[in-house]
Amino acid sequence: MGTSQKQNDPMSRAWAQAQKHLVGGVNSPVRAFKAVGGRPVFFERARGPYLVDTAGKAYVDFCLSWGALLMGHAYGPTVRAVQKQALKGLTFGAVTPYETELAREIKKAFPGMQKIRFTSSGTEAVMSALRLARGVTKKNRIVKFEGGYHGHSDSLLVKAGSGLATLGTPDSAGVPGALAELTSVLAYNDEKAAIQFFKKHRDIACVIVEPVAGNMGVIPAKKAFLETLRALTKKSGAWLIFDEVISGYRVCYGGAQHLYGIDPDLTILGKVIGGGLPVGAFGGRAALMNHLSPLGNVYQAGTLSGNPLSMAAGLSVLSALSETFYRKLNRQCEDFLEKALGVLKNKHRTVSAHRAGSMFTLFFLERAPQNFQEVSASDKKAFRRFFHRLLAQGIYFPPSPFEASFLSAAHRPEPLQKTLRAFEKAC
Ligand SMILES: *Cc1c(COP(=O)(O)O)cnc(C)c1O
Repeated sequence: MGTSQKQNDPMSRAWAQAQKHLVGGVNSPVRAFKAVGGRPVFFERARGPYLVDTAGKAYVDFCLSWGALLMGHAYGPTVRAVQKQALKGLTFGAVTPYETELAREIKKAFPGMQKIRFTSSGTEAVMSALRLARGVTKKNRIVKFEGGYHGHSDSLLVKAGSGLATLGTPDSAGVPGALAELTSVLAYNDEKAAIQFFKKHRDIACVIVEPVAGNMGVIPAKKAFLETLRALTKKSGAWLIFDEVISGYRVCYGGAQHLYGIDPDLTILGKVIGGGLPVGAFGGRAALMNHLSPLGNVYQAGTLSGNPLSMAAGLSVLSALSETFYRKLNRQCEDFLEKALGVLKNKHRTVSAHRAGSMFTLFFLERAPQNFQEVSASDKKAFRRFFHRLLAQGIYFPPSPFEASFLSAAHRPEPLQKTLRAFEKAC
């Protein structure tokens, strides 16, 4: 356990230094290990399925930079593409051919994204998509779902109001109540609640949803739920926005919208499409996207948007993908998860799982959950113990029970075997 760690080893000293100079020692809160206790591990390098810490210890990585690394760490073609581009210049702040190339590549998998705009993060892409939806529909209400994460823009750091109130309340200090009230938070996978809500409200600009939830652990949407959202938005003139920042290029070629056969009005991408460099993107029908500046009156911009390094890194990954690639990777993940559940159940563990493509979550629950409320009941203490016992054996899972884990194309049998043996010992 974290508490038994020596206080005077080099990594503890590094953590003390980090906390002196960085807020909470981190630049993104979940990295601080608050959900699992102890101090975070400092990493120095990585290759394939492995992270290597500053003491030289290797870990099989199931976090993969929160799903960004579909090919694993330091994927050869990405490293070479970035090196090659760096020699030609890092950023031009002007148009380049690379942005068109990546956009073209994305449209092969997401034909509904007729026009695309790149940003430097998923947060930015979501924030801009909401502005576009509000600007064009001339309505202000946003609907999201409990347990969904869409980055940290003000309108989305909102939680459900108490009782039957349909107005959201701020989920962070600094988010004005007046803005939070314009966001409504409904239960995930509950089509009846959505139907009721649409009966009562006429001011809905858009519904934003992770079609395969990845930020309360993996919970795939029920098909009827997404179909209901599609029908309700179509009828009312609200936009349906699929936030596929995780699920895009992860659950299959073409993302969750292909898996479910549902076309959203806008799609948000990020993570995988940057090959490990900062990126976000949103897109949809030209008639909608053309309302963005410079063509339309909805403003949107970014100094490093579509920068050549991110474009080159993204292209090196996306151009290597195919249906066959996903069949193989997804089968490997299915097989691994089945064996993992076998090991844990054999040890009489209360455990269940969800998987979509190469993303999955093991839940310390009897039955795999369907929404945030059910996830919240999971055994957090059991997760903490399990997490640290795996960490000690060189297995790195995301440091929170409410996150997705990932497999990459570099997760070949050997690291997976090692992981299954570690599971056995961790019980
Ligand atoms: C990661 C994530 C975001 C935010 O992307 P950033 O690049 O971290 O800003 C938005 N939506 C979903 C579904 C995500 O998983």
